[in-house]
Amino acid sequence: MSLIETYSLKDEPSISLEFFPPKTASGKANLLERIGRMNVLDPTFVTVTWGAGGTTAEKTIDLAGIVAQSFDIPVCMHLTCTNMEIDIIDNALEQCRELGIKNILALRGDPSIISNEDGSPDDKFRYAVDLVKYIKDKYKDEFCVGVAAYPEGHYSTEDDSSNEQDPIRDMQFLKEKIDAGAEFVITQLFYDADKFLDFEKMFRETISTTIPIFPGLMPINSYLLFNRAAKLSHASIPQHIMDKFPPEIQADDNMVKSIGVNILIEIIEKIYKRTNGRVKCFHFYTLNLEKSIAEIVSESPTLAHIIDESEDSDVEISSNDAI
Ligand code: FAD
Repeated sequence: MSLIETYSLKDEPSISLEFFPPKTASGKANLLERIGRMNVLDPTFVTVTWGAGGTTAEKTIDLAGIVAQSFDIPVCMHLTCTNMEIDIIDNALEQCRELGIKNILALRGDPSIISNEDGSPDDKFRYAVDLVKYIKDKYKDEFCVGVAAYPEGHYSTEDDSSNEQDPIRDMQFLKEKIDAGAEFVITQLFYDADKFLDFEKMFRETISTTIPIFPGLMPINSYLLFNRAAKLSHASIPQHIMDKFPPEIQADDNMVKSIGVNILIEIIEKIYKRTNGRVKCFHFYTLNLEKSIAEIVSESPTLAHIIDESEDSDVEISSNDAI
């Protein structure tokens, strides 16, 4: 099922969930149970990550295929295009077809390394737009293709590009991806709702008034991981959020999680209200964990209807986050 179809059928605010493929068989079994429990949160779609260069190809396709066939949720498989043989891309797309995975998040992955014999860069898949074009040329509308975006600007490490984050410079390249046929946008995680709102406004004014943007949110499960994830993603943490974690509580994971739940709810409420409900599907980087997300959904005024309306309200989200 195309995630755009499911998204269009939902009038009310909803969530989507990102998972990564576990390394072991028992990890996979536990995650599938967890996804089954999280189904009560009625996700509009779930995504499965792809290791840059194809490192998790088999496990990613396997997990995405099982989820597509076991649950009534559209699945979106992430796919990168740099530093990989084209056969890996072709094989992944063919398997998606066979397994009923209709949605692909087309990504660049790590910067392209020099790979032609004469030392020139291999331009076939240099940027994500090349993968969007490739999928659309080869498969037309068989796949619903989405792309990544960065509310604070993409942090580039390439030699030929400034590594200053600049969302205005990135906008032209995001437009190229939409013009090539991308139908939805998922953003990098952020904690500064104003930066997301500026980005969304600029996107609406310069690129599209209709393409859905799914804001990327990562629950705060520990103070250390929260800071690490923000740093790795080049996402700024506003001072008013930092102030909520005085030194004496930073090592108390339960306290940090509960403050984190309120922070995420504030971000969701602000975005939903300030965009007049235009942004209404919130994408969670789950890290394969469920507890904080269940709490956010049940306590957020914008999302609480999901639990209230659930036909399966007896199902309980596990309070134990370990897999
Ligand atoms: P692009 O859109 O190609 O952009 C990369 C950089 O090049 C940007 O700075 C852009 O402004 C610039 N650029 C684009 N086109 C041009 C052009 N024509 N000329 C000059 N400059 C240009 N990585 C993984 O390995 N696996 C995953 O599963 C994964 N999932 C992700 C999910 C989301 C929602 C996000 C936001 C990121 C994810 N990533 C993943 C990380 C992603 O691969 C990296 O951030 C990567 O560095 C950029 O990918 P992109 O698709 O945004 O690239």
